[in-house]
Amino acid sequence: MLNIVIFGPPGAGKGAQSQNIINKYHLVHLSTGDILRSQIALGTPLGIKAKKLMDKGELVPDDIVIGMINYKIENSPDAKGFIFDGFPRTVAQAEALDKLLKDKKTFVSGVISLEVQYNELVKRILNRGKDSGRSDDQDIAIIQNRIMVYNDKTSPLINFYKAQNKYHAINGMGSIEEIFRRITKVMDAF
Ligand code: ADP
Repeated sequence: MLNIVIFGPPGAGKGAQSQNIINKYHLVHLSTGDILRSQIALGTPLGIKAKKLMDKGELVPDDIVIGMINYKIENSPDAKGFIFDGFPRTVAQAEALDKLLKDKKTFVSGVISLEVQYNELVKRILNRGKDSGRSDDQDIAIIQNRIMVYNDKTSPLINFYKAQNKYHAINGMGSIEEIFRRITKVMDAF
């Protein structure tokens, strides 16, 4: 199995590059952000709880997102591999992912980390907010909080995956096509 974590701060381009990766490598896309937004759209109790946190730019509790990922993996028996997008976001989530994959006799093949400058992140998110209508993409204070939460809770994963020799930093500045070419160079060596 080829199991990829696409990593980076909010606005780094994880979603756009995930689409390119799925098309080329035929992996199952697991985006915790997308799953949470579909729960919000359905108005489920989980969605109502998640929306309150997402609208502030805070993380949803680990047990909720780990449960969602577990469910999706269990229900994808024919997958050739997965691309994890927006997950893991905490060390506890990364440890849980290692365990879930180990139970399936597989593991994280590699981490693709998109590096983008702060000003560019804010610009991209505000731009996306105009089309997506996402409330967390339209308010500068919420965007800044999301980037702060990333620095605080998610960036420790850089050392977590470096210690496993799985971390691959990619320059995330440039056109979507250009960045994808950089990603394929790394992924073709997995
Ligand atoms: P972005 O990468 O642009 O921040 P996402 O769609 O990945 O967008 O995430 C949007 C929001 O959903 C996050 O700010 C957070 O509130 C919630 N979320 C998504 N994934 C996770 C996760 N793995 N753990 C906790 N919260 C999450």
